[in-house]
Order: sequence, then C-alpha cells, then structure tokens
Amino acid sequence: MSGRMIDISEHILSKAILKNGITLQSVVCMEECAELAKEISKQIRGSGARTHLLEEMADVTICLKQLQLMYNIPDDDLNLVINQKLARLEGRL
Ligand SMILES: [Mg+2]
Repeated sequence: MSGRMIDISEHILSKAILKNGITLQSVVCMEECAELAKEISKQIRGSGARTHLLEEMADVTICLKQLQLMYNIPDDDLNLVINQKLARLEGRL
C-alpha cells in the first residue's frame, strides 16, 4: 500500500470547482471533514456503521484531492510532508 495513490478523476473535480467556485467548494470540504469526525465519534460510541464510515472516508479522500487542486498543492509536495510526518511518528514509536 505504501506510496500508492488513489486514482481520483481530476477532470470531474475541476468541473465542480468551475461550477461552484473555490469558496463554496472549500465550505463543502469543511462540512465533509465534520461529517467524518461525527462518524468516527459514532464508531467510538459503538453506534457506527461500517458503510457510513466508509462513505465519509471516501468523501474526505475526494475532498483532499479537491483541496490540492484549489490551493495548488502538487502530489509531490503533499507526499514529501506526509513522509516527513510518518518518519517523525515512527521516531516516536
Ligand atoms: Mg459526507
């Protein structure tokens, strides 16, 4: 799984940004993050459903790609910071 990127259609995401604009699309991303947080909370409380968690994880995964497009974050930049953070985490384990 290491280094493998999920293939998300940038074409579709670009169309959404053009149609809705960066501001609205950014708000959608915030909302999706909140929905995932709520679903994680339900899992902890024991009232969560796997399908719901899966759906919210998918939404946020899509939103992360959306954010990359809107705020000009290339995969390489993101991967660099991810790897730095993973190395730091590993160092603390
Ligand atoms: Mg959602």
